[in-house]
Amino acid sequence: MTRRPILAANWKMHKRRAEAESFARDLVKRLGSDSATSLRSQDVEVVIAPPFPWLGAVSAQLAGSAIGCAAQNVHPEPQGAFTGEVSPAMLVDAGCRYAIVGHSERRALFGETDAFIARKVAALQRADLTPILCVGETLSEREAGQTEAVLARQLEGSLAELDVSQAARLVLAYEPVWAIGTGRTATPEIAQQAHAFLRERLTARLGSVAGAIRIQYGGSVKPDNVSVLMAEPDIDGALVGGASLEAASFATIVRYQEKPK
Ligand code: PEP
Repeated sequence: MTRRPILAANWKMHKRRAEAESFARDLVKRLGSDSATSLRSQDVEVVIAPPFPWLGAVSAQLAGSAIGCAAQNVHPEPQGAFTGEVSPAMLVDAGCRYAIVGHSERRALFGETDAFIARKVAALQRADLTPILCVGETLSEREAGQTEAVLARQLEGSLAELDVSQAARLVLAYEPVWAIGTGRTATPEIAQQAHAFLRERLTARLGSVAGAIRIQYGGSVKPDNVSVLMAEPDIDGALVGGASLEAASFATIVRYQEKPK
């Protein structure tokens, strides 16, 4: 099955407003639809995930382009006494079409559980937003031979409330924690092995629709390693942190199909 590659920039807690807006303008220009290397000609999906306060401003800069806006988090309830939180409908109002959930930093630093993440996935689906669900093992889990058990547990737990009728829209991101922000990228073979395992589990849970679900790789993706990763059969995109903070670098990653000059 052909899956449209999806490349996403996760800015985390970086950039002031003017920097966010200027990045968005710059990226639109670099990936403009009338250039020889347009998004259309490469048929990739491109997403930027700015911090919450800049979602509206970045969405406004992206209006009319093929680039989408994502939130880095969401709360599963539609409204209520949840100080500091943001609902799916608020993300829609801010121009978002996607939200990242279950990022390892949210799991490790903010104590997010698979059960809580499962509620977020379902809430995003109800709001017609695309969840980008992150899973991934730590270094000690990998060294203890627990990678597959951890991935299976996170996947099953985080998809516990999934609306199966909308499963094809789900995006999964395999992000080995030991590769995030470390410069230590998973080899294409290691990443492919994990992606194939995830697809196998998705198939067991959802049947043939699993063939339509995009699985991104995340963990020190850079302009010079994205092509070899994307060449693997079950790697359908990238979730990029550090190398997405400069428009030139992220645009090069998006254009990974171009031959190096
Ligand atoms: C991330 O945090 O999603 C990520 C992949 O970061 P980096 O690319 O910096 O490793």
